[in-house]
Amino acid sequence: MDIQNVLNDAVKYAAERMEDGKSAAYIPELAKEDPRRLGACISMVDGRSFTAGDWDHDFTMQSISKTITLIMALEKLGEEYVFSKVGVEPTGDSFNSIVKLETRTPHPLNPMINAGAIAISSCLTGAGYSFEDYLNTVRQLCGRSTITLNENVYLSEQKAGNRNRAMAYLMENDNVLDCAAEEACDLYFKACSVNVNTRDLARYARLLANNGTDPETGRRIIDSRMTCIVKTLMITCGMYDASGYFALNVGLPAKSGVGGGIMATLEKKAGLAAYSPGLDAKGNSIGAYYVLQYLSEKLSLHYFSAEECLI
Ligand code: GLN
Repeated sequence: MDIQNVLNDAVKYAAERMEDGKSAAYIPELAKEDPRRLGACISMVDGRSFTAGDWDHDFTMQSISKTITLIMALEKLGEEYVFSKVGVEPTGDSFNSIVKLETRTPHPLNPMINAGAIAISSCLTGAGYSFEDYLNTVRQLCGRSTITLNENVYLSEQKAGNRNRAMAYLMENDNVLDCAAEEACDLYFKACSVNVNTRDLARYARLLANNGTDPETGRRIIDSRMTCIVKTLMITCGMYDASGYFALNVGLPAKSGVGGGIMATLEKKAGLAAYSPGLDAKGNSIGAYYVLQYLSEKLSLHYFSAEECLI
């Protein structure tokens, strides 16, 4: 199978279907992004890689960072402690919903929603880890030492962040946080505002797909139990309240962010990433979704595909 051809076709297919996408309006700096941008990368465990479109354009990780703060917290503080703070259940609500903190439990239902990631950020801050520690982890997981913070997006997140602050203050009030609400939000805003491209995310996804061992060096970077936890949560909660739809139509563990990125893992074989800033009503990138849906269909990537996987 000519994977490069299929990827080129996937980008064409997506480009014809994304005109309704709108860049995230609630973070003014993200609203400036051109919703017609579209790019993708596949990074294979066997060392090959394939790119198409705006694959090397920088965009902010946004919610994809939630997988990385989770990995850090699991590795540094342990599974038991982390899951005493947040749960592992999908919410069925939007990623920035506050409602269940009040009506169900002060502990966020999972680490892939804003409240959960803010609680995880508080655990890291409370244990003495800084944004620099986070950034170094991102650089290591993506395999690029020049990854940096996008200052303008960070400042914009801070300005537009009162909904996140409201959740953090509620959790601080209920003794869920390990540091002050403002400090937890600051790490969270910065983590969301790190610039990456699709190759960075595809390489990170490949590491997850390979259960935490770098396929090029054979070195273990993430504990395999942690990769199992993260991928499971990506399946059930990674696409917010569209996780079921995505599981049905694409069938890969995936995580999206309102910067327009989606990364997905193909077990033991590859990391995939696609990017387009135009979002649907649930905050998922329309173009990136269609790239992944096309690849899944044409290459039989769905975890329950009856056909032999073609890559
Ligand atoms: N920084 C964004 C926010 O807090 C991240 C949300 C997302 O990517 N879904 O709203």
